[in-house]
Amino acid sequence: MGESLLSRIADEVGTPVYVYDAAVIAERYRALCDALAPWEPYRIHYSVKANGNLAVLRLLKELGAGADIVSGGELARVVAAGFDPADVVFSGAGKTRTELEGAVRHGVGLINVESAAEAESLAAVVGDATAGKPVAVGIRVNPDITTETHPYTQTGAKGMKFGVPLDEVERVSDMIADQTGLTLASIGMHIGSQLADAAPYVTGARTLVDLVGRLRKRGVTTLTSLDVGGGLGIQYRPGRPALEPRAFADAVGPAARETGLTLVTEPGRYLVGPAGHLVTRVVYRKHAGGRELAIVDAGMNDLVRPALYQAWHEVAVLRSGAPAPNGTAVDVVGPICESGDFLGLERTLPEAGSGALLVIHGVGAYGFTMASNYNARPRAAEVLMDGDRYAVVRARERIEDLMRGETAEPEWHA
Ligand SMILES: *Cc1c(COP(=O)(O)O)cnc(C)c1O
Repeated sequence: MGESLLSRIADEVGTPVYVYDAAVIAERYRALCDALAPWEPYRIHYSVKANGNLAVLRLLKELGAGADIVSGGELARVVAAGFDPADVVFSGAGKTRTELEGAVRHGVGLINVESAAEAESLAAVVGDATAGKPVAVGIRVNPDITTETHPYTQTGAKGMKFGVPLDEVERVSDMIADQTGLTLASIGMHIGSQLADAAPYVTGARTLVDLVGRLRKRGVTTLTSLDVGGGLGIQYRPGRPALEPRAFADAVGPAARETGLTLVTEPGRYLVGPAGHLVTRVVYRKHAGGRELAIVDAGMNDLVRPALYQAWHEVAVLRSGAPAPNGTAVDVVGPICESGDFLGLERTLPEAGSGALLVIHGVGAYGFTMASNYNARPRAAEVLMDGDRYAVVRARERIEDLMRGETAEPEWHA
């Protein structure tokens, strides 16, 4: 990967800066297509919440992906990036009435409902909004599977907020069948994120096959797709397992084949995670309480994964700085007033003296999208690189941006 290009971007755009490598995204998209090819027909819907930058979205659209969204804001993003709404799936456990109305108005291809209450809400929206073609609905099932991932990225276990419980699916299906404005087009699941093991997918897919059989016995004839979720785990740390596209495809493909439905998958992290790098500069070196610290200009507001999930990201020196104590492990920490504000602990980085440029790898997913303005810090710039050229695809936020819509002089309503 172009280390010299990364340094040049840091010099010209400033730090901290997120850089996404278009070639890596394209390569990963194609690898997933290759793995799914034996299970045609299939469709890949990119999960926008992993990285919603418009240029990244446009790239994935041009590669042939559809989109999977979880909010009205993401709908606006995918429309702005040029996706055909018919190629968009709307998921998420708490879609508001306004969001459902927006989805129906735009002609979103599939709306996944996650509860009986949401199906009712959608029926009400459609009832007074459309004439003509029924709105395609999917039921996202909670397959009751526990997975080995961080507790915050588990989604398919019983009692969680995600998905319709298995024993309620038939009732929700009947409700949808009773509405002339709705048609049940998909059965799906999402069992979690950053999964390294294919076994839960095999189990989950079996559950979906059984369910499709039960629904068909009940008279459902409208299903067109089987949505097996995203969640392919990637390798953040050398030696740790990742879920290879082939293993994933072979775990879920047979289920789709058996039902005769189109296999739909909605990966986010797999496609963009390894393509992203965060370049940051060492502001100060410091020795405190027996530890060596490198205080950098990126913090947990820029990249929250280490603080939120105890995530490990590779940190490397891009360009060395002033001489620093050698041979000791260094904690790479941000400038924010929180002890959890670290990017990497106890790393061997002999050249990370003050002024050094560091790069944090594997941050293309859930990096910038989870960034905040905590400590009144403008969000970083985002750059897309393609071979030996680059483009700023989101300007660094300005201080003025941070106070937009805010006032020191309240206009009271009584
Ligand atoms: C977050 C999410 C995904 C993507 O998960 P990754 O781990 O990024 O692949 C897919 N589908 C739904 C419904 C999601 O909420």
